[in-house]
Amino acid sequence: MSRTEESPPVDFIRQIVAADLLSGRHGGRVVTRFPPEPNGFLHIGHAKSICLNFGIAAECQGTSGVVGRCNLRFDDTNPLKEEELYIQSIRTDVRWLGFDWGDRQFYASDYFERLYQLAERLIEAGDAYVCSLSAEELRAHRGTLTRPGRESPFRGRSVAENRDLFRRMRAGEFPDGTHILRARIDMASPNMNMRDPTLYRILHTRHHQTGDRWCIYPTYDYAHCLCDAMEGITHSLCTLEFEDHRPLYDWILDRLQTELGCHPQQIEFSRLSLEYTVVSKRKLSDLVKAGVVEGWDDPRMPTLSGLRRRGYTPAAIRTFCQRIGISKTPNNVELSLLESCLREDLDQHAPRVMAVLDPLRVVITTVAAGHVEGLTAANHPQNVDMGSRTLSWTREIFIEREDFSENPPKQFKRLVPGGEVRLRHAYVIRCDAVIRDPESGAILELHCSHDPATLQTNPPDRKVKGVIHWVSASRSRVAEVRCYESLFTTPNPDEVWQDADFTTLINPNSRTILTDCRIEEGLQDAPSGAVFQFERLGYFCVDADGAGAANRLFHRTVGLRDSWARLQQEQRKV
Ligand code: ATP
Ligand code: MG
Repeated sequence: MSRTEESPPVDFIRQIVAADLLSGRHGGRVVTRFPPEPNGFLHIGHAKSICLNFGIAAECQGTSGVVGRCNLRFDDTNPLKEEELYIQSIRTDVRWLGFDWGDRQFYASDYFERLYQLAERLIEAGDAYVCSLSAEELRAHRGTLTRPGRESPFRGRSVAENRDLFRRMRAGEFPDGTHILRARIDMASPNMNMRDPTLYRILHTRHHQTGDRWCIYPTYDYAHCLCDAMEGITHSLCTLEFEDHRPLYDWILDRLQTELGCHPQQIEFSRLSLEYTVVSKRKLSDLVKAGVVEGWDDPRMPTLSGLRRRGYTPAAIRTFCQRIGISKTPNNVELSLLESCLREDLDQHAPRVMAVLDPLRVVITTVAAGHVEGLTAANHPQNVDMGSRTLSWTREIFIEREDFSENPPKQFKRLVPGGEVRLRHAYVIRCDAVIRDPESGAILELHCSHDPATLQTNPPDRKVKGVIHWVSASRSRVAEVRCYESLFTTPNPDEVWQDADFTTLINPNSRTILTDCRIEEGLQDAPSGAVFQFERLGYFCVDADGAGAANRLFHRTVGLRDSWARLQQEQRKV
């Protein structure tokens, strides 16, 4: 992580951790974990959790006398939804974001045998029983928020009978759904999670890690607290929806305290939600399955792989996570905050280049055919260490079609018939003639003349206000550029999402493909994933899969906040 990044503000979780270190509660250890379920790709919401968990561990490790650790733990208790593909992508994304779990990668499935043994302990203590109600009966017994549940008729089974049935569940004697293991807590509890929750269910399903070894699987609620305890987690940080699960988390750990010798503390914080975005793996998976996007790493997706493909940098995402902070207040964060963190980072690090998205041919009549002159252009207006490159000045160039107007609105500072404009890094040109298609009347090209005395300075006798970008016609290369808008038309798609017709929420203009763009010749060899500022247009990223393609593919990463103000500032320095 770069030293220039801000140090994190002291949020309520960091305060708890600091207080625990002071009191010696965990013996100078701070152990957190990031526990994704491998049932999808990580998204920007996970980044918040990753930055928090790994961040706290790293900060503590940097404090003398303190051991700070963060485990990566795959919470793989539901083999129906999980895949090896997701495990690989999660590892890639956590590393890309800049965090390292060292040798502490675990799976909940690593602990299946121990979890099973602990369930037998609960049975022996009379704290768990095998329930043989059907799914429908279970639902009917559960009660509602206002009505207590009813006790299962199997609640009074003897320890011996429970142990026997549980062992036979494990041995594969029963089909799916015939029995479950439940905690014996309180069917009248106002907290639904405490109404004899399920600890184990029968699932005759192959598991990506344990193969066919198991046909009963622990539930998330049962496994999570115990995995935390077995790993010696001190602070188990999770999102607010688990607040109501905390009594169960504590109940299980209390019952097994003598076996475990450790009781992690669960602390909840609010989830990140982002305007115009859904952050739920299930919904993101629906978008992929419905073909609304091209895959989990489509540049419109809020997945870390999508953001990476779009040109987001790990530093920008880390800064964003720091700025949104950690609290218990849910809020829908504005997209502009994420984008401004990105712009800040790219402004410093992205080389400047020129590209024309909608080319209009301009013949510079004062330049001889075949003439090629090298013009030096700085790669960054402030950072001289980023060097410079050579642009080819030729008789024919392209400018952006919208930088020319025959009926200019007031304040139009670009090219007009008879008017002058400065070409970035090059000369002042004047528009002498507009050449049209005789039939359609469409503008085919402009004929301009250049003033050779204007390479470095503006002529004292003329006021040339506008600066526009351009590329050589003969030396530039054709490229495809994809421009993006938000994927959803509503700022809170998560709230109005309907499984049946979520596609009505999709922005039909979320992607525009421009196939006839022109880029500076040097960009032809730009490495995959590199991000550039196309002057005046925004930041653009070379597609990750485009190596070797005849025409390079760029994704528009993010726009410039105020291209004019910035360009004019730079111009004043010239
Ligand atoms: P999803 O709803 O997208 O499936 P999840 O919580 O089920 O999310 P997990 O793989 O279980 O996904 O999450 C791993 C960790 O990331 C958990 O600790 C979870 O609390 C955290 N997390 C997930 N989504 C967010 C979010 N939007 N903001 C902050 N933390 C999140
Ligand atoms: Mg989950």
